[in-house]
Order: sequence, then C-alpha cells, then structure tokens
Amino acid sequence: MIDGGEAIRKLALNVVRYTGLAPLAKPFVGGIGAILMLHRVTATPEKPDSVNRHLTIAPEFLDAVIADMKANGYAFVTLDEAIERVKAGGKGGQFAAITADDAYRDNMTEALPVLEKHGAPVTIYVAPGLINGAADLWWEAVEDIVNARDELTLPTPQGRIKIDCSTPGKKLQAIARLQAYLTLEVREEDQRAALRELARSNGIELDGPRQSTLMNWDEIRAMAGHPLVTIGAHTVNHRNLKRLSEADARHEVDDVRRMLQAELGEEPRHFAYPYGYASAVGGREVGFARDAGYASAVTTRHGVLRAEHAGFLHALPRISVNGRYQSVAYIRTMLSGVTTPLANAGKMVVTI
Ligand SMILES: [Zn+2]
Repeated sequence: MIDGGEAIRKLALNVVRYTGLAPLAKPFVGGIGAILMLHRVTATPEKPDSVNRHLTIAPEFLDAVIADMKANGYAFVTLDEAIERVKAGGKGGQFAAITADDAYRDNMTEALPVLEKHGAPVTIYVAPGLINGAADLWWEAVEDIVNARDELTLPTPQGRIKIDCSTPGKKLQAIARLQAYLTLEVREEDQRAALRELARSNGIELDGPRQSTLMNWDEIRAMAGHPLVTIGAHTVNHRNLKRLSEADARHEVDDVRRMLQAELGEEPRHFAYPYGYASAVGGREVGFARDAGYASAVTTRHGVLRAEHAGFLHALPRISVNGRYQSVAYIRTMLSGVTTPLANAGKMVVTI
C-alpha cells in the first residue's frame, strides 16, 4: 500500500508537463531499467470511485503497458535477473521487472493471464499477517467505515471526537483524518486495536468480505509453483518499520523469512518495505533488510534504475503503475527517466 496523496498529484502534473520532452530527455536521464509496482489488477473493482483507486489498474491496461514496453525494447525479466543486470551495469539492454504488493487475489485471477500471454515474470510481496488475518488492510477498512456512516465517533485517549461523514467531501476529510490518526497519532503497535475500537464503537463489522480480496495460503502456494512467479517478503504484519523499535522492526524483517519458508518451503530472496515512502523507510531499515540477507529490497520511491544502484540494492525505487492515470503515454514518460529527478529534488539515483 502506498500514499495516494500530494506526492502522486505533483508527479502527475509533472508527467503531463514533461510528456513531450521525454524522448529528448531520455539519453540524459534515462536509466538501465525499471521495477514496476502493482497492487490490484481487476476489471471489476468493488469501489470504482475509491480513495484507494490509485492502487487498482485494469488487466487491459497492464496488457497495453507490457506490449508498449516490449515494442520499445524492454525485456521482462525476473527480479533475480534484474538484480544481476544492475550489478552488470545494465549490460544486456533495457529491462523491466514487475512487482505486486500485498498478494491480492486478482493478481492470480486477472493479472496472471496477462503475464502468461507476455511471458512476463512477477514478484509478489506477501505479509503473512495480512494472509492469516493477524493484520488488517486498514486503508480499505477505514474507507468502508466512513462509507457506512454519516457520522463517526473516534475514541481517542483525549476523549471521543465526532467526525462528520455526511457528504462526499466530508467523507474524504474523514478518511484523511482517520488515516492520520492511525498512522501518526496512535503507536504503530496499537494501530490494529485502534482500528478495531473505531469499528466496534460505531457498530461496524470488520471481518468477512475483506479477507477474500487477498489470496489464501493454498493460492499463494499455487502461485509460488508457477514458473513466472516469485514470492517476496513484505514484513510479518505490514508495519511501518520506521515507527517501530529496533527489536520489533528486525522481527518484522527477519521472521517473515521463516514464516514464508514454513508455508512455501523456500526462503524469500527479495523484500519490499510496507508503504515504502520516506516516513516508513530510512537508512536504519535498509540496514535491517541487508542484515537479514535479502538479495534486494524495494521502496515506493519514484525512479528508474541506474547502474549506480548496484551499491544500493536494498533501497531500489520503483515506477508505480497508478490506477488514476491509466495511460501508456504516462508510463512511457516515467520510464524515460524525466520524472525521476523531478520527483526527488533533482536526484538521478533514487534510494531512500
Ligand atoms: Zn503493502
């Protein structure tokens, strides 16, 4: 899950502004390849107007993006191969690796047929807590809670706060307020209890249909056996590592390896930081991923890959295939590298 806020809107503006420049800029700012980031891939989203719609693309769009990239000379490779190519300074030509976070079931039912058509590998990052039900897809739960009521009561340690959710505009404000509450105000360790208390005190049932949006272990095992699929690690409980103590953060990064090994019979080689933005991953967390022995770790920072990333294999940027902007021209512009320094204060080699 990633932030859908201001950063993405600014990036979108830049992409529109620089689309015409992209072909000219490519020799100067272009990278050696890219890691694409997906979340949900479905033709029939349950909530088409969702505040989280940046996380959902149509399978037809995935098909169009891969076809266009292939036509422009990109080879679709496994993440292992992508890492080898980074280490080799990009020898072998332009490449792309596809990644998908959180193990949404539609990755299997709707994305996989597209990937099979193109022979394009994918790495799916799994957080066992989300699959076992020990952790929540809280960003979806918050939206459901706000949509279910015209007014909510937020029980905080300072007392109960009333939140107006009576109009579409108020609902957007309420979602932003509750996201801030859950990600900034309560401790990361208490986020789940706070979400559950919010639901309970407003008479809303949290479990049930939501679980079906993610794959179960049998499905993840079947995917792991597919020749195009690699399973990566996404922490135990999808926590913001930067908000945890060192011991808790290391547990999240290390123990997920053993949990995935127990379920799938193989240790994951690749890792994705939950949320992946600057307030969720910094130098300390990169060290944890390196210490845990992963071959690579990806953020959600925006950028193409450059040869210099060989020295930063645990802080690799990605290109988000964003549901709000499902246009091949938009992806082409981002892949040209022109938006990489624009979105990162002039930096060409984006790490953390
Ligand atoms: Zn995630």
